[in-house]
Amino acid sequence: MTLSRFKPGDVLIVAILAVLLGWHWSLWPELASGSSARVLDALGRLAGVLGLGLMLLAGIGSVRLPGLDRWFGGLPRLWTLHRLMGFGGFILILLHVWSMAFSGVAQSLAVALATLFPPISDWAIWSGWLALVLTVLFLAPTFQFFGRLHYQRWKRLHLLSAPALAFALVHTLSLSRWWPLWLVLGLLAFAAIGWRKLLSPHLGRSDWTVAEVQTLVPGVVELVLDPVDRPLRYEAGQFVYLTPWDERLAAGCGEEHPYTLSSAPDDPQLRLGIKDLGDATHALQTLTPGSRVQIEGPYGDFYERHRPGTGQLWLGGGIGITPFVSGARALRADGREDIQLFYLALDSSRAYYLDELKSHAERCPAFRVEAHYFRQEGPMTLAFLKQHCPDFAQREVYLCGPPGMVNHLKPLLLSAGVPHSALHSEVFDFL
Ligand SMILES: Cc1cc2nc3c(=O)[nH]c(=O)nc-3n(C[C@H](O)[C@H](O)[C@H](O)COP(=O)(O)OP(=O)(O)OC[C@H]3O[C@@H](n4cnc5c(N)ncnc54)[C@H](O)[C@@H]3O)c2cc1C
Repeated sequence: MTLSRFKPGDVLIVAILAVLLGWHWSLWPELASGSSARVLDALGRLAGVLGLGLMLLAGIGSVRLPGLDRWFGGLPRLWTLHRLMGFGGFILILLHVWSMAFSGVAQSLAVALATLFPPISDWAIWSGWLALVLTVLFLAPTFQFFGRLHYQRWKRLHLLSAPALAFALVHTLSLSRWWPLWLVLGLLAFAAIGWRKLLSPHLGRSDWTVAEVQTLVPGVVELVLDPVDRPLRYEAGQFVYLTPWDERLAAGCGEEHPYTLSSAPDDPQLRLGIKDLGDATHALQTLTPGSRVQIEGPYGDFYERHRPGTGQLWLGGGIGITPFVSGARALRADGREDIQLFYLALDSSRAYYLDELKSHAERCPAFRVEAHYFRQEGPMTLAFLKQHCPDFAQREVYLCGPPGMVNHLKPLLLSAGVPHSALHSEVFDFL
């Protein structure tokens, strides 16, 4: 996921950061004061302001409200922003500590030590230290300082972000004259985390029953779900969080995982194509009709269009075919949208949706499907694309598949003249 195109939500983030920095206007002249102690002190405070601002915005951005993510170009892009803000905030907070220490060194070592390690009764400074230690603990696995952690353990450790933010706010509110602004941002961050962790599991999900579990090939099933109460409104290409509640599952009962909807939005049932990629997805292969699941969403913005009226090129690989299955199922027979789909699979035995996609191509003349088999033809080439879709570089391109496929195709398409703005991709991996 790249951040190449600017979204309305980005403006909000930049505006809040600008207000924070502007609000601390009295620190700016200090940067030109000529005294190294004062320059470092002002630099340290501004780094702290920006660092905590980014951390709080990352907290607010974790809210996960259907619809809100579209302001930021969909949830995967919002998560990328969340990670960038978290990482940027962490680096600035390190700079904050470093600058404050060196502003003291400019006077004497004793002053520097007293600034960093005051008597224990100075709880404002010590809560800052506590916030930093907690931040290091919850960020270490995110940035894989000590290797990759299992996703669910990573998620639990990430909960330390809430006390880290609380201690950081105690530190700032007791030392800053601009506390109302911090209070508002702090309340918003805690409301976001509270919604996500405490309220959304009860208020943000809807109940569904498993109607069918269709095995497409070994290791891939399509779940068909019936609504218990309200149906879901969504667009083709969007995804949901699915939480199964079946105690008989070997893993993943009560765990939420994201899956793209493969059904057409007007289908009263929901369909999700799920590939066995780990313990939870492996267990879902054994789900039985009648089981209860919960759905949260929809999220994402996959089929955003920047140049309406131009033809589309869809490239789906492996289980990354699901948004295109949804798109194909939603096509109307008299639709005029010119769409070429390339279905990238290892070999014909792994092209489990191909027959159905071909039947949609017969039903809708403006939709064409071509399979590409890696075992037979190797990686996708420009020659293959040109042969089957001569005007591919003039089309709006949608790409979804494993990271290796997306990393191969993106530079290939860009080298053929597809502009960045016409390239939309999704990788089924948030980390
Ligand atoms: C936007 C999106 C759409 C997706 N659509 C589909 C789909 O249509 N069909 C399909 O089979 N798979 C889809 N996936 C992938 C699916 O979510 C993962 O395969 C699944 O969560 C793996 O869980 P696991 O316990 O089986 O494996 P694990 O071994 O626990 O996880 C494998 C990897 O999956 C990712 N992952 C695990 N749990 C989560 C989670 N809760 N949230 C985000 N990422 C997680 C992590 O990167 C992890 O390293 C999608 C993922 C995303 C982000």
